[in-house]
Amino acid sequence: MTSNAELHDAAQQLMPGGVNSPVRAFGSVGGTPVQMVAGDGPYLTDAEGRRYVDLVGSWGPALLGHRHPAVIEAVHTAVDAGLGFGTSHPSEAQLAELVRGRVPGAEMIRMVSTGTEATMTAIRLARGATGRNLVVKFAGCYHGHSDGLLAAAGSGVATLGLPGSAGVTQAQASETIVIDYNDRSALEQVFAEHGENIAAVITEATPANMGVVPPEEGFNAFIREITSRHGALMIFDEVMTGFRITDAGYWGASGREEGWEPDLFTFGKVIGGGLPTAALAGRREVMEHLAPTGPVYHAGTLSGNPVAMAAGVATLEYATADVYSHIDQKAQVVADALTSALSDAGVDHTIQKVGSLFSVAFGTSATGVHNYAQAGAQEAFRFGPFFHSMLEQGVYLPPSVFEAWFLSGAHDDAAVGTILDALPAAAQAAAQA
Ligand code: PMP
Repeated sequence: MTSNAELHDAAQQLMPGGVNSPVRAFGSVGGTPVQMVAGDGPYLTDAEGRRYVDLVGSWGPALLGHRHPAVIEAVHTAVDAGLGFGTSHPSEAQLAELVRGRVPGAEMIRMVSTGTEATMTAIRLARGATGRNLVVKFAGCYHGHSDGLLAAAGSGVATLGLPGSAGVTQAQASETIVIDYNDRSALEQVFAEHGENIAAVITEATPANMGVVPPEEGFNAFIREITSRHGALMIFDEVMTGFRITDAGYWGASGREEGWEPDLFTFGKVIGGGLPTAALAGRREVMEHLAPTGPVYHAGTLSGNPVAMAAGVATLEYATADVYSHIDQKAQVVADALTSALSDAGVDHTIQKVGSLFSVAFGTSATGVHNYAQAGAQEAFRFGPFFHSMLEQGVYLPPSVFEAWFLSGAHDDAAVGTILDALPAAAQAAAQA
């Protein structure tokens, strides 16, 4: 049997860092990345045959757990009919209808292949629809890796401690204004100075790429109000939260009180059921600026691919209220056990949680974590030993303190039990870091 280490060494000769997405490289936690070869329900199996309880969930898509029978069957049926035809296919409207039925304000939908493409296209659409250039984003929010959105981004950019990315021109960066999250006066000031030139404010519905940072009450509604007042669009990035967080009886994100809607949404992860699908959606009048009905160009060879559509349709059909209440309840159990284990070990921390999405921030109880600066100021060095202790005990966490933990509908008592059993030793490891 080839070991994880041998596979990773070989991969490093072929791919930068041995990976195709940076955070998989264990850069901030150290050690050898694990090569997973199979998933089943809440479990993953690595190349050495070790089994782990999975808290990454493919970074979000695996809402129902791995290899959910209905999803696998739907994919098999689609595959048997061919992998894709480069034409329209009935399943595209089926998935679009499911999204529209669950998301007030998602009147029209355009399928794309990745979350990055969804946000990139939403920005272009906002610029095309408003005739304005500037985009406002919040420090620590990650919206994929398109050039203009890599300014002060979270996720892997936060994990690697980078200010932005090489290769992004000054011209592109200068059209993105970055302000602190949860800071209403910064938003007011930016609109006072640049209001007539701002095409859009893009925000994660609940930021979860600098660890989870809940929007303060009314913050999302304030973004809605100020963008409307100045004729700018509000882009609600729900790539992470969409069809995962169910607060407010809404099958997408939280932080969205009754009575208002963003102009545009972006979705990814869960709507693709584990295959490469994402989407932008929103008001008909805005969406119709997209080609072929309008002048804003977007296209995709694999957009709306029928196999990916089948996985998305089956996932959303099986993502019932029962599944969400199961995930919410298990997340609460794990978050409670995490905080007890850390408190028992004397580790100062906060649990950052919205719905079933949560993360831990070490050494932050004095201030809490309301923005990127506070997230970055935490005792991140405690996470590596914590992560490796969990890994040794058979629990696969996201390999970065800035990522959320993902539970699924398949996390049963046995899987949760394994997590709970592992937490005390991991908390000790964090204490001794
Ligand atoms: N937006 C958000 C909120 C995300 O969390 C992510 C990915 N984690 C993206 C956009 C980009 O999605 P993708 O990785 O599919 O390009």
